[in-house]
Amino acid sequence: MDYIKLALNENLLTSFGSNVSGFESELETYIGCNKKISLVNSGTSALHLGLILLGVQKDDEVICQSFTYCASAFPVLYQGAVPVFIDSERETWNLCPEQLEYAIKHRIANGKKPKAMIAVHSFGMPYKHEEIQYLSEKYQIPVLEDAAEALGSRYKDLKCGTLGNMAAFSFNGNKIITTSAGGCLIVANQNLKERADSLASHAKHKEPHYHHTELGYNYKMSNVAAGVGRAQFESLEARITKRRANFEYYKKNIKKEGIQFVNEPEGFFSNRWLSCTLTESFEMREKIRLNLQDKNIETRPLWKPMHLQPVFEKYPHYTNGVSEDLFQKGLCLPSGSDLTNEDLNRVIESI
Ligand SMILES: *Cc1c(COP(=O)(O)O)cnc(C)c1O
Repeated sequence: MDYIKLALNENLLTSFGSNVSGFESELETYIGCNKKISLVNSGTSALHLGLILLGVQKDDEVICQSFTYCASAFPVLYQGAVPVFIDSERETWNLCPEQLEYAIKHRIANGKKPKAMIAVHSFGMPYKHEEIQYLSEKYQIPVLEDAAEALGSRYKDLKCGTLGNMAAFSFNGNKIITTSAGGCLIVANQNLKERADSLASHAKHKEPHYHHTELGYNYKMSNVAAGVGRAQFESLEARITKRRANFEYYKKNIKKEGIQFVNEPEGFFSNRWLSCTLTESFEMREKIRLNLQDKNIETRPLWKPMHLQPVFEKYPHYTNGVSEDLFQKGLCLPSGSDLTNEDLNRVIESI
């Protein structure tokens, strides 16, 4: 309420004001590495602006993780570019370095080097940064990091959001903190931030009359929404602690044969945005899911891979069976920051 009142008192309800600049600088301080932040109205908008700033244009190819939410890949289509889907490895469920290198070589042999790659930290678990970064440098293909689910996750000492050439967070209502709807683009310097801010405000020039030399968008976050974000941000560490505790509690107390939890590899720190499990089979997963549904407990299968989605049917993909297996056998359990032990026990007993 205090941050919202601040916006009302300064009479700035639209795309600038002290909540926008305050939240931007608080996030910059938090993630470090001298990164600059541009607040926008969704994580999807942030990814779209990232692709534009990386120079992705019509008919360019963009590498994309198949095991993700559709919003990682839709912005590629907004640019008229071609997504090339890559499967996951089993340790983090993110981009498989072997598949990735195979695909890059194959695309180059086909006559077109991918213009960028979108790497995702699925469910808050960081991707294999060193391997991905090595390939990014070897083939000179920049990484756009989809950190929508990974605010507060880390790879060694580096926070997610600082691993790629650019990155996006989402502050949608289902993420670890929210601005109601919103997101931000993370870039390497002030120049790029100004470019992003401009593209997000219809690419207006400084002239007193409206003057435009390029295509712009209406993507900025409002000063009111940024106020909600500042307040939420104050409880980020507590939320990460709680979400990690949810995961540990499930792992410790679900003693059913055939149910597995994926541990963090050495050096990886996940915010455990969602607590996910793997069952033995599709049948077992469905039995658990439907039983929980009967008890009014919401769960959701893990991502249906993008290469299986009708909307992306015609685009190239490189698969190894991992994402399809995760889709068949995996389940996201209730994971909110406000779950009580009683809630968690109810889920565990029902399983
Ligand atoms: C939520 C999400 C997005 C999109 O963010 P919005 O703020 O909802 O537009 C993009 N990628 C992933 C992986 C997400 O989970």
